[in-house]
Amino acid sequence: MNLAVLGATGSIGASTLDVAAAHPDRYRLFALTAHASADALLELCRVHRPKYAVLSGVPGNAALAASFRDLHVELLFGAAALEQVASDADCEAVMAGIVGAAGLASTLAAARAGKRVLLANKEALVMAGPLVMRAARESGAKLLPVDSEHNAVFQCLSDVKAVRRIMLTASGGPFRALALDKLDAVTPDQACAHPNWVMGRKISVDSATMMNKGLEVIEARWLFDVEAGRIEVVIHPQSIVHSLVEYVDGSVIAQLSNPDMRVRDRHALAYPERIASGARPLDLAAMKSLSFERPDHQRFPCLPLAYAALRAGGTAPAALNAANEVAVEAFLAGRLPFTAIPRVIEATLNAVSNSDSMSLESIMEVDATARRKASERIQMARAA
Ligand code: NDP
Ligand code: MG
Repeated sequence: MNLAVLGATGSIGASTLDVAAAHPDRYRLFALTAHASADALLELCRVHRPKYAVLSGVPGNAALAASFRDLHVELLFGAAALEQVASDADCEAVMAGIVGAAGLASTLAAARAGKRVLLANKEALVMAGPLVMRAARESGAKLLPVDSEHNAVFQCLSDVKAVRRIMLTASGGPFRALALDKLDAVTPDQACAHPNWVMGRKISVDSATMMNKGLEVIEARWLFDVEAGRIEVVIHPQSIVHSLVEYVDGSVIAQLSNPDMRVRDRHALAYPERIASGARPLDLAAMKSLSFERPDHQRFPCLPLAYAALRAGGTAPAALNAANEVAVEAFLAGRLPFTAIPRVIEATLNAVSNSDSMSLESIMEVDATARRKASERIQMARAA
């Protein structure tokens, strides 16, 4: 299978390339992309020898292109090249592994072109769920969730019409048990020290605020066509149960494994086959306990904000996502305290008018407006 890995230099990219390298008989690398990490991309091209490489955030550069050409790799520049490789007739599967709103256009291009879309970039569905799902329906694209919770739900789903509830589990992140009055002073490195997974910094901060789970509720709403009222979040600190589906007869089906990314990656890549992942087998008897608790909305105000945006509908989730990206970036740069992240998002949601128009253009317009409002809010907070 010819595979394009969008976001090849990131955490999802690395785990995808591990699978591809372990199964050269199954996967041939068609394209690898990065935003600005030219050296890291060149190194990956040396190992994986794709047909194309893309640097989406770099203007054309002949010397750089020559160093890729030495490896028989054609280097493309600029964001439009992401859509180009994702929809190329020779590309069969696309790992959507770009972080943030920047991944929307290429994910949508892959869905429109009928590809097998391995969906890690949850922000695409958060911003434009109806658009992406319609594109996939019309083209026959297969969306396979890589996000571990959605991958779990996908594995537990047999009869969508008989689903009563979807229960997404959440680890609660690094601050689940920290005294509330200490949250104000937490640092980016503390926020990125996830108890069970090593991931990129943006999603790690999202896990610490639980906005990640809010984004995942929205992702699940569109991916599985189940409305917000039937999607619940439960904190499960051990990250063994990756999510659950309850049916109308009261049966609850869960997917379990040790928290090892290789399980979800192999499932999504090999589906409908199953291949060995190398993950440590579960030893139920050796496990002390599996615990579950309700999320505390005072500690995690981002979660109710995400539900509110989903219920508001239209472009509200796109505004939520944009404000979150700006606030998280400011927090990571030391320009915003952790506890101000939800305040910036709430203020932005109140300041951006909601639209029912679901075109890519109107969504990107709302994204830009929300980014501007969120930045203004952060500047105001710093000036105060
Ligand atoms: P990383 O930060 O590790 O990697 C991000 C990748 O996207 C890099 O290749 C980066 O390139 C590229 N990139 C960054 N900005 C842009 C841009 N503006 N345009 C194009 N490409 C860009 O992120 P993760 O791998 O952790 O996450 C990727 C996505 O997968 C996110 O949406 C996340 O929510 C989702 N996800 C991740 C999980 C994980 O285990 N990591 C689990 C579930 C979902 P460069 O190196 O040049 O900056
Ligand atoms: Mg997840």
